[in-house]
Amino acid sequence: MRSLFNFSSRDVAIDLGTANTVVYVRGQGIVFSEPSVVALEVVQGVRKVRAVGDDAKLMLGKTPENIRTIRPLRAGVIADIEVAEEMIKHFIRKAHGGPSRFLRGPEVVISIPSGATNVERRAIRDAVSNAGADRVSLIEEPMAAAIGAGLPVAEPVGSMVVDIGGGTTEVGVISLQGLALCRSARVGGDKMDEAIISYVRRNYNLLIGEGTAERIKLEIGSAVRPPEGNGKTTLVRGRDVGRGMPGEVELNQAQVAEALAEPVNQIVEVVRTALEHTQPEIAADVIDQGITMTGGGSLLREFDTVLQDATGLPVIVAEDPMSCVALGAGRTLEDQVYRGALMAA
Ligand code: ADP
Ligand code: MG
Repeated sequence: MRSLFNFSSRDVAIDLGTANTVVYVRGQGIVFSEPSVVALEVVQGVRKVRAVGDDAKLMLGKTPENIRTIRPLRAGVIADIEVAEEMIKHFIRKAHGGPSRFLRGPEVVISIPSGATNVERRAIRDAVSNAGADRVSLIEEPMAAAIGAGLPVAEPVGSMVVDIGGGTTEVGVISLQGLALCRSARVGGDKMDEAIISYVRRNYNLLIGEGTAERIKLEIGSAVRPPEGNGKTTLVRGRDVGRGMPGEVELNQAQVAEALAEPVNQIVEVVRTALEHTQPEIAADVIDQGITMTGGGSLLREFDTVLQDATGLPVIVAEDPMSCVALGAGRTLEDQVYRGALMAA
């Protein structure tokens, strides 16, 4: 009976990110990561989900008129709760390998941005319940990131985590399984992509899409200019604004670093403000422990060096930074020690 019961549980932890949703199944670990993107078809004014995740991201910016692709969490808040709910349902079904047919519904732990309002928290909780969860627990993103990065969150030692996602940057100072302080700002990887788009438009009169901008960032993006010369280059294609024709230019690393300077500085400022507001005793711990970076944005070349120079504190990028939030949320399903990190209903 017991094994049947276990089989029927399938508890999951979800990192509902603005760019990517990462899903963890109890006893299995991370089972998949997919873009938080939904493609909707509009038929006579009624919206129908056409694709979710990887399949939907392929359609971004290339859809016919009756299909729209949206990122329901884009700016770190739920821009579209109905679509977010469909997306959550899809991912839970996928984690279970098909429609759920279990004796009891699963427990779902889901991460939420620390800046989410009570209304947004309730909306996410309801969406997960509607998706068939028996029990829904919320965990704040910086807390999940800190657990996933292996920081000593249960101890009376302050540690700081900086999670740079697509839509938001979350800074948390954690001690004794609580957030002593958190700051959330709507700047992250998306703002970096937008900065590249406007740089190319301003300097070359060339319009490029978000996908192209992200590719440039991943290929040659850096938080600082290359030490000598202009560094590596990449070819960029788009539409020439003046002639209205396809066009192509070559960008180098120094130019991309210049384009990225503003969002990078904004993120550094969020961290600085958080440090200024950290209680003295905890700040003293942070000097020892340093700052841990998580989230996809922490993978930008030299970002850790820039943050280290700006704060004078040791900075490390967590191992597998894009998995930390899901791993941390998952740990709360596996280990009683971390239950205290979950938010009361
Ligand atoms: P979220 O939690 O908001 O879903 P993620 O932590 O998944 O975000 O990070 C996604 C962001 O990280 C995207 O903006 C993506 O372009 C960016 N990113 C991923 N890898 C890199 C990299 N190597 N360099 C710079 N940015 C990166
Ligand atoms: Mg995230």
